[in-house]
Amino acid sequence: MKGKLITLEGIDGSGKSTITERLRSNPDFKDFVFTREPTTGWIGDAVNRAIHSDTDDLAELLLFTADHAEHISKLILPALESGQNVISDRYSGSRYAYQAVTLKGKFPEPMEWIQQIHRGWTVDPDLTVLFDIDPKISVERCGNRGEQTKFEKIDFLEEVRANYLKLAEAHPERFVIINTDRPVDEIEKDVLEAIFSLVGTR
Ligand code: ADP
Repeated sequence: MKGKLITLEGIDGSGKSTITERLRSNPDFKDFVFTREPTTGWIGDAVNRAIHSDTDDLAELLLFTADHAEHISKLILPALESGQNVISDRYSGSRYAYQAVTLKGKFPEPMEWIQQIHRGWTVDPDLTVLFDIDPKISVERCGNRGEQTKFEKIDFLEEVRANYLKLAEAHPERFVIINTDRPVDEIEKDVLEAIFSLVGTR
């Protein structure tokens, strides 16, 4: 596998899409493949239906995981194998962080269980940029864009944020934590530095 896999993770409103748009329009990234989860395929549509409805939490996780499987085999692996670098706005880390909260109390150790069902077929990222922010600020930002989902509640997002930080602590070799309660230009500079230190300088 020659290409590198870079994932952008963080709670809603942490600034992932804003930075992704900047990277997309940066000529240094013209050969990168940009993608996202949920995907824009039909399984991704099903995930979006689940997100915007009162779907069973386990059913929702399994839809997300099905979408991830399709994403891996149809886009991620072929791109990496052909030597392309891939940037995904959300990836498996979102499941580990979010669904470990939605499934809390349903069975023991949900985060470990979710990671286990990904093992053996998922592709671990070479770099995960964690957009870290206080949910009080991110929810306010999301409020400004006026499209709230059931996940965009402060208490819920505090638990998701804690899970992301736990993942980062467990995988310091690939996580870079970026404080996104700052001007976009500063965040972009740090994200570029993290990516170029992986793929080589521009
Ligand atoms: P995400 O993709 O992580 O959900 P977005 O990039 O969509 O987050 O950002 C959510 C909202 O916050 C948007 O309205 C965006 O314009 C705004 N925003 C993003 N980054 C910043 C920042 N660094 N400072 C202030 N507002 C921001």
